Amino acid sequence: MKISEIFKNKGKTVLSFEVFPPKKTSGFESIRSAVDQIAVCAPDYISVTYGAGGNIANTFTRDIAAHIKNDCKIEAMAHITCVNNTKEEVLTVLDGFADAGIENILALRGDINPDVPPKTDFKHASDMISFIREHSKYDHIGISGACYPEGHTEAQNLTEDILNVRKKIDAGAEELITQLFFDNEFFYEFRDKAKLAGINVPISAGIMPVTSKTQIERMVTMCGASLPQKFVRMITKYEHRPDALVDAGIAYAADQITDLLASGVDGIHIYTMNNPYIARKLVSMIGKLL
Ligand code: FAD
Repeated sequence: MKISEIFKNKGKTVLSFEVFPPKKTSGFESIRSAVDQIAVCAPDYISVTYGAGGNIANTFTRDIAAHIKNDCKIEAMAHITCVNNTKEEVLTVLDGFADAGIENILALRGDINPDVPPKTDFKHASDMISFIREHSKYDHIGISGACYPEGHTEAQNLTEDILNVRKKIDAGAEELITQLFFDNEFFYEFRDKAKLAGINVPISAGIMPVTSKTQIERMVTMCGASLPQKFVRMITKYEHRPDALVDAGIAYAADQITDLLASGVDGIHIYTMNNPYIARKLVSMIGKLL
């Protein structure tokens, strides 16, 4: 089922999780087992990231997504990036997804690696979305896009970035998932401005429960998310007590989600980091609020 239909049918906030595939064959079984434990929480769908680990890892994106869909019986979304794919390669990947029964993709440009020249068939995610929509054999595949409550790091400003997000919708994306953020006010401002820009598709808020100081430093470097004082105090207090930091990170995420639900958010997308403890504990805290 297309994710857009889940949004239409459910009539309340859609809950989704994100997992990442193994980088090597040796990691496949342990990630499949983590996914099985995460699937017990019965989210509306689970998405699987794509890209950083080369061709083998990208085959694992398909295989993990197929496992979610066919064995766990939960709707799956496979991510796909165009920075490292030609048009022909995108069609090959899509055929692989379709053969595996996967009906949803998150269409992304991908991050540009300064050491690897990008392939040039597509400049932006919206170009890939238009290209896919030219092929009627993929009409059964639902397409989602990414968006950035604090603006994408390459954009001049939030308004320019939102107008670029609008291009993804015009090209055929049916819903959006946000980059992680730790201050809900950025999300509310983004949502208001997106509406003014004519973006009327569901927007899921991407929430990452923090599990370690290194993780947060890496994420902030990559995506430039702001860290509110309340969040910094939490990290500073628990950075040397790993178990306490995980629980504090989950509590912070639950607090963010409670506020988002009160504001009528369309969807909550949890970056699980393949950690069943995080997924289960968070759902036990917010499950009844959805
Ligand atoms: P684009 O939409 O192409 O945007 C990139 C920049 O170009 C922005 O500054 C935008 O304002 C601008 N722009 C966009 N369209 C146009 C246009 N038509 N004309 C001019 N300027 C334009 N990365 C991975 O490698 N694998 C993953 O699995 C993955 N999953 C992700 C999941 C989510 C929910 C999110 C939010 C991000 C994910 N990423 C992933 C990261 C993503 O690839 C990067 O953020 C990347 O830098 C931008 O991707 P995009 O699809 O938003 O690009």
